[in-house]
Amino acid sequence: MDKLNLFEYAQEQLDDCAEILKLDSDIHAILRVPMRELHISLPVRMDDGSIKVFEGFRVQYNDARGPTKGGIRFHPDETVDTVRALAAWMTWKCALLNLPLGGGKGGVICNPKEMSKGELERLCREYAYRVWNFVGPEKDIPAPDVYTTPQMMGWMMDEYSKIAGNHQFGVITGKPVSVGGSAGRGDATARGGLYAIREAAKELGIELKGATVAIQGYGNAGSFAAILAKSLFECNIVAITDSRGGIYNDYGLDPEAVLEHKNKTGSVVGYINTTPISNEDILELDVDILIPAAMENVITKKNASNIKAKIVGELANGPTAPEADDILYNNGVHLIPDFLCNAGGVTVSYFEMVQNFYMYYWDEEQVHIRLDKKMTPAYHSVLETSKKYGINMRKAAYVVAVQRVVEAMRDRGWV
Ligand code: GLU
Repeated sequence: MDKLNLFEYAQEQLDDCAEILKLDSDIHAILRVPMRELHISLPVRMDDGSIKVFEGFRVQYNDARGPTKGGIRFHPDETVDTVRALAAWMTWKCALLNLPLGGGKGGVICNPKEMSKGELERLCREYAYRVWNFVGPEKDIPAPDVYTTPQMMGWMMDEYSKIAGNHQFGVITGKPVSVGGSAGRGDATARGGLYAIREAAKELGIELKGATVAIQGYGNAGSFAAILAKSLFECNIVAITDSRGGIYNDYGLDPEAVLEHKNKTGSVVGYINTTPISNEDILELDVDILIPAAMENVITKKNASNIKAKIVGELANGPTAPEADDILYNNGVHLIPDFLCNAGGVTVSYFEMVQNFYMYYWDEEQVHIRLDKKMTPAYHSVLETSKKYGINMRKAAYVVAVQRVVEAMRDRGWV
């Protein structure tokens, strides 16, 4: 981490917003910290017969607007402060998209890449067991995030349902479609981000057909972003990286073939007819659109002035440090902030909850149309606010979201 920890970033961003809105200091104090958090130990039988005790968290940041919602991350560098920051961002994200939900997040310190399928299943079931009375379809609804998958959501839903003694599809989202998942959830984060990027391109007068795109990260968000940017808008994907390195080709890459190569070899590195590019250099490429879709804190004050992209669409959570935001803004880079750009995932998660409650399922086309109807107005409300106050897009997104959370707190009589 460059200077601050991620939760300090989130608090600093809120402080800026409080100043713009001249927020009442009592309300500001409530919004600066999580409402509730659970710390758990997770003993898991490993394949060699030993028991390993993992550490995990679930943070419920603010539930003024409804049940808390947010993913569970499995990552070796997970910390409770990271989970707190992400839970705060979920609060703003759900409010910005006008979903009737608060914000939460979970995490386990582990390295899923070094664990067998059986070990992962036992860890997931243990997590569901340890959090079972803290979460629930009308309380707190987890979902996938970094290194967690639909299969893992299926295991957790199953474990929770066993404890409850009945089917509880609505306790978790991002499930496989066979057990209450929603059509269109798989690519929802990327698709929602591309709808926002489409609106930004219109605003800036950028023709998307042939526009050059660089994508940092080739997991769920990054790979679907590449595939959809090409199939929906005919963009030219010139560079892709993952945790092991990256590839570049001026003439454009075939995102599906790159994904196939990654699935076979474990990395995009080495894909034919490309030159290598690092995770640092990809950020500074002279492209129309840059999509950070990997980890947090990659655009900092050290490299912000070297960013040449016209649009930065943050599909990752927290890729830009607060002091880098102003540098990008002053250089005319149009940044679509994380909790707007990557909100497609939670939006379709919300659709999944609705379908679970009704036990009636929509087709993919309906999901896409409804997602667009959520993303497009959210983008424009942020853009208008940014123009009205003369502030960058992240600050504008905070202004819209925080006002909505505060309104709910007032209407409940909390403040
Ligand atoms: N983990 C995703 C996010 O950061 C999705 C959360 C959800 O679907 O609840 O937005």
